[in-house]
Amino acid sequence: MQHFPIFLTVAGRRIVLSGGGDAALAKLRLLLKTEAHLTVLAAQAAPEITAWAEQGRLTLIARAMEPGDALCAALFYAANEDDAEDARVARLAHRDGALVNIVDNLHDSQFITPAIVDRDPVIVAIGTEGAAPVLARAIKKDIEERLPPVLGTLARIGKTFRARVEALPFGARRRDFWADFYFNAGPRALDNGADAVTSALEALLAQHLNAAPKQGRVEFVGAGPGDPELLTLKARRALHEADVVIYDRLVTPEILELARREATLLDAGKEGFGAAMAQNEINALIVEHGLQGAHVVRLKSGDPTVFGRLDEEIDACDAAGLSWSIVPGITAASAAVASIGQSLTKRARNGSVRLLTGHDMRGFADHDWAALARPGEVAAIYMGKRAARFIQGRLLMHGARGDTPVTVIENASRPDQRVLATTLAMLEPTLTNAGLSGPALTLFGLAPRAALAALADFPKEAAL
Ligand code: SAH
Repeated sequence: MQHFPIFLTVAGRRIVLSGGGDAALAKLRLLLKTEAHLTVLAAQAAPEITAWAEQGRLTLIARAMEPGDALCAALFYAANEDDAEDARVARLAHRDGALVNIVDNLHDSQFITPAIVDRDPVIVAIGTEGAAPVLARAIKKDIEERLPPVLGTLARIGKTFRARVEALPFGARRRDFWADFYFNAGPRALDNGADAVTSALEALLAQHLNAAPKQGRVEFVGAGPGDPELLTLKARRALHEADVVIYDRLVTPEILELARREATLLDAGKEGFGAAMAQNEINALIVEHGLQGAHVVRLKSGDPTVFGRLDEEIDACDAAGLSWSIVPGITAASAAVASIGQSLTKRARNGSVRLLTGHDMRGFADHDWAALARPGEVAAIYMGKRAARFIQGRLLMHGARGDTPVTVIENASRPDQRVLATTLAMLEPTLTNAGLSGPALTLFGLAPRAALAALADFPKEAAL
């Protein structure tokens, strides 16, 4: 982040601008929305600027800038559309102690003006460090469409009521009150005018003050394989509303970013063999926050019902009398198979697919290897990196063909995704040589669709 966003107090302070043409006009239209004292320096000013000066909305000094013109100014804009003149006035303003922006000259500016969505007092500022103005405009348009124009009015009325809401305890109760106001009671009341909104606030406060204390609850939420776009809408909503998010090691930072800013984020990251945090400690953590009345989101990678030790956590909730629900997610096998353009099941090839774990609590996990070794079988092997040699040995021993395709997908759905197409015979050493460091899913019996054409000597019907 090269620029740090802040909202600067400008009410009653000076903002000075040098220039009288189109660039000056564009900036002034924005600056006139503020409560700052505006001064414009321009030997020749556009008629709009002269008109604003006549209306008393700004002070126009009809000459080029001189030393001292920007004294006590909070901000200074050089908008002369003339590089030499902009450089000259910027130097003067800098000496006068103002923060300087030169229009269309990011490099020599001390601050930049973001794209703005104005629902005063709700202001959304969008910046791209000057890198992608087109993107900023597109985001602005998107947000403009999403924020109803009444939001500003509701926020203004709501602001006058803030002190009253302190009657509710700080935290979730107050947040619930405001959410109820902005998204339910407020918009409904506004149809009958601003006075109706004030009465609605009174009624809503009485209702919330009398409400029974909130019951905690737990949502077991699937975070998917890593790409935030593979979250379900329900998962996004849960993250947006959670008081506490208890997340696993494989949940990506991009997804945690989506949690409500006030939410408490707790890392329950478990390492492969051996636990960074023991399962019973995680259970206790979930229960502790749930019993305090929090909305707990237990965020698990992929789908919470697949190799997620979900049942132990559900049992702990049941024992504590906490209500819970499950929000499914996209499991690693689905993301991995999509990345190689294949299906997990296919008519006339495999009518079933196994989800296996490479290791369980006792070490390498045993399975029905003989059944899996039959031609055409497909398995998605989770946590299979360290068990690769073991799995390979078992399958070959039970008669699987050495040239059965095996594809290992590391970091499925993430920007650093890697696909290793190999065969059962070559699974080791391929894995060791690749030096995988991220989570990897092994698809036994499947080759990437694109690679099949190249595998001339491989019987395609076994893979397709
Ligand atoms: N509940 C998760 C699985 C948890 S077990 C799910 O449904 O996906 C952890 C294992 O999942 C990892 O060892 C790895 O085998 C697999 N895994 C999770 N995310 C992955 C990803 N993005 N790419 C490849 N494998 C992944």
